[in-house]
Amino acid sequence: MLGRMTDRPVTRHTIFQNSLMTALLDGIYDGEMTVGELLGKGNFGLGTFDALDGEMVIIDGTCYQLRHDGSAVRADLEARSPYAVATNFVPRIRRRAPENIRRSELSDFIDEMTPSENYMYAVRITGRFSDVTTRTVVRQSKPYPPMTEAVGDDAEQHFTDVSGVIAGFRTPIFEKGISVPGCHVHFIDDGRTVGGHVLDFTLAEGKIELCPGTDLDLRLPLTSTFSSANLDPEDLDDQLHATEVKD
Ligand SMILES: [Zn+2]
Repeated sequence: MLGRMTDRPVTRHTIFQNSLMTALLDGIYDGEMTVGELLGKGNFGLGTFDALDGEMVIIDGTCYQLRHDGSAVRADLEARSPYAVATNFVPRIRRRAPENIRRSELSDFIDEMTPSENYMYAVRITGRFSDVTTRTVVRQSKPYPPMTEAVGDDAEQHFTDVSGVIAGFRTPIFEKGISVPGCHVHFIDDGRTVGGHVLDFTLAEGKIELCPGTDLDLRLPLTSTFSSANLDPEDLDDQLHATEVKD
């Protein structure tokens, strides 16, 4: 470990986060932070929109809304987000991916690339995908159900032979509840027309870039719904599995 650390020293780098994953799980779907404000925190990231109205991805300083039908549009700068993670992406660690690699294998490959499992990593995978399976949350109406129920309305999309980018974060297990532990990534195609929350994929050819994060800038909402939320559920592991992995 130490040897690898000196080969590729980790530089201090901040990852910004708006609210908590446990707040989202508890049905806190309305936030107080706008897309415009969020873009001031980073040119790269992911999240969701108020009322769970689609998945969010930020690429090269542009924020996209990935809608229920799998289509992508540029997000309104005034739109609000109840949960988002963003950073200014610096590709400090880069590797060409082995050809035709599936998500599970690529996950191990990315682990090998990281100098330590104890830091956060922004992950960017750019290339040609032979297939990508995504899901997208559906706009919810009040009274909001908890997320384990809300994702029951999810639509799955399947894209084949598509060029694009998978963007997101690899988060240490100790952040469970603050964020989604492990890899949480969203997809958008090169034309910025389709995408969603990634369930599975095969990367035909492409590159992997990582930006290590050492500092977490956590912004907690001042809303009354957040202040009265249950942020310590007993079945957190089950809820995370049901909402983010969904197998
Ligand atoms: Zn997601």
